[in-house]
Amino acid sequence: MLDVGSLRNALIVGYGVSGKSACTFLRKHDVNVSVYDDGALDIPGGVRQIPWDNIELVIKSPSVPVMPHNCHDVIKQANARGIPVISTFDLFKLTNPSAKIIAITGTNGKSTTTALIYHILKHAGLSVEMGGNIGIPYFELPKSDWYVLEMSSYELASSKYLSFEMAGILNIEPDHLGFHGGFENYVAAKHLALDNAKMRLISLEDIETAPKYADKDGVISISTDCREDADVYICENAIFDKSENRVCVDLSGIDNLPGKHNQQNIAFAYAVCRQLGIPPQEIAQGIRSFTPLPHRINIVRKIGNVTFVNDSKATNPGSAAKALATFVGHKIYWLVGGRSKKTDPLPYVGEYLPEVQCIYLFGEAMDEFETAFAGLKRTVRCETMAKALHLAFRDVARSNDVSVVLLSPMCASFDQFANFEERGNEFVRMVGELD
Ligand code: ADP
Repeated sequence: MLDVGSLRNALIVGYGVSGKSACTFLRKHDVNVSVYDDGALDIPGGVRQIPWDNIELVIKSPSVPVMPHNCHDVIKQANARGIPVISTFDLFKLTNPSAKIIAITGTNGKSTTTALIYHILKHAGLSVEMGGNIGIPYFELPKSDWYVLEMSSYELASSKYLSFEMAGILNIEPDHLGFHGGFENYVAAKHLALDNAKMRLISLEDIETAPKYADKDGVISISTDCREDADVYICENAIFDKSENRVCVDLSGIDNLPGKHNQQNIAFAYAVCRQLGIPPQEIAQGIRSFTPLPHRINIVRKIGNVTFVNDSKATNPGSAAKALATFVGHKIYWLVGGRSKKTDPLPYVGEYLPEVQCIYLFGEAMDEFETAFAGLKRTVRCETMAKALHLAFRDVARSNDVSVVLLSPMCASFDQFANFEERGNEFVRMVGELD
């Protein structure tokens, strides 16, 4: 194992939230840190010419590419010189070797499930912290017995010291294909979480994971499709636990986590917490008292029969499909756009198009989605989200039907906003001003 205790000179590549936090941590431990970032130079320790002769270790930020097809030049140089390159997760693990980690990954639902597990465990009195891709850098976490970490595929693909007490993959659908260089590599990165865990949680509905892991030891299988061959399954709005041969949590009346996709998040959280010995009744209390994360199918406002919903976090077709499924039975006025993930949306959202009245397109992806939905659904080119909301409101105001104006954009936000939070906040602000 790499010894970071005697480290004197390190290079951090990428100065975002994680890189910055790793930098502060190392400097606190008297390590001399140089920082390379493609953008800003105006950062403490920022370098263009890397003092390679002094560098003993390179720590890369999650989004710095390392795959053969897109490997960052600085990482290539480090590799050529034989200097070890590790991830920010690796640095956390190496400096906290006894940390007991629960890793949650998947294409969609990671943040919700991570936050829900953390909430239930904390509520039950365990010493637990939550961090990783959910926005809290590892090095800002207080010491604790347990860590619930949201693991992105970027971190999984570029870490060398993955080691988890438990890991769960919620689902795998095409995403981040540019970074990984194809779907196969993306799936392989997700599977690394399970391959490096003592106890593994899988979804029987996930065709990328179930066939490979379902029959292995140390696997807890989960189903939201009432499958009695699963260890934990959801049927008729209740969690059935095979190890107890009974319904353990009744989910009726729990409305803070709507939709079948959230039942999956709940089932995973249940299975993790049961493994840690939390009684079902306490888990149920934790689920009920959980405050949902913002920008994920959040009801913003109701005006007459119209509900306005912010699902800005839906950055791919798979997650947008879950929002559409949640509002089956409503007339949906759907705001879509941003920077596309270049995934054909129809296999995901096609079955819900009969519920959709009109699709209001904005941002870079307008042409792509206009073509994708041509002949299937009316689309309106709006350029901006503000205009999309304005036109949807005008159309919905002419109808008396029970309707939803849904921002579930199926795209990243970076073409017009700093991030999905800014996009969602802007939507909420504009909805607040409608009259
Ligand atoms: P992530 O951290 O993986 O992006 P989030 O919990 O932030 O996941 O949710 C992202 C989007 O995915 C939201 O639009 C949300 O409604 C949807 N979503 C949440 N859980 C699931 C799930 N289990 N399966 C599919 N979509 C989900």
